[in-house]
Amino acid sequence: MKLRLMDFGALTADEGWVFEAGGVSTHSDTNPASPRRDYHMSGAMIEHPKHGLILYEIGPAPNWEELWPPPVKEVFGITRYTDENRLDNILKQAGYSVNDVKGIIIGHMHLDHAGGLEFFRGLDVPVYVHEDEIKYSFYAIATKQDFGAYLPHYIDSAFNFKPVFGDECELFEGITLYKTPGHTPGTMSLRAELSSGENFLFTSDTMFFKENYFDEQPTGWLTRDMGGWWKSLAKLKIIADRHNCQVILGHDGDIFKEHLGKVYT
Ligand SMILES: [Zn+2]
Repeated sequence: MKLRLMDFGALTADEGWVFEAGGVSTHSDTNPASPRRDYHMSGAMIEHPKHGLILYEIGPAPNWEELWPPPVKEVFGITRYTDENRLDNILKQAGYSVNDVKGIIIGHMHLDHAGGLEFFRGLDVPVYVHEDEIKYSFYAIATKQDFGAYLPHYIDSAFNFKPVFGDECELFEGITLYKTPGHTPGTMSLRAELSSGENFLFTSDTMFFKENYFDEQPTGWLTRDMGGWWKSLAKLKIIADRHNCQVILGHDGDIFKEHLGKVYT
């Protein structure tokens, strides 16, 4: 099995979305600055010896500028996305095309992680998503609740969605999925165990940045279930400890850059 990271660019947004009480005023600082931060967008390309090319999270749609509603672009606008960040070009660099992809695993169905399904329109590639996330994302579109984080262009029954059930599932040999809710009801983290014995744990947006995971700083306005988040944090730490994992967080560019450009086997 070979594993490498994919770089889908970055968006820039207020820190309050990812850190509880980010920019909050206090008695001694009544009007603090509300800092902004780059949210790196990334995914993983896994070449599996039995199941072929598998992707974990696929970034935004290439034509996001026309598909994302103006309020979403105002709050979470993408500030870095060039031809190099397009999924089809990333696959080409590795010697593949979108037609070679045998499976797509989506950690959660937000627009910056699953919008790249647009590259697979008309193809019948299986898209593995947790049962709870499939249900919630279609519900969010139908009711306009959480609209903006989920968009109808890719939450579309034309795609070949395959539900993943339960708290833990070894989908393919060496690829284990864990339900880790908090940010969304059905976010799935992924652990890849390579033949070298090295383990990678991808948290999707259950953990956005180093501060969330390593300093246990709770997530901000993007959290849908705070109690669930604390349980997921504890679960992820046990998994990471048990398997001595390299942990890759949803939007942390510093950790991402340590691994970008390397091929792990
Ligand atoms: Zn995200």
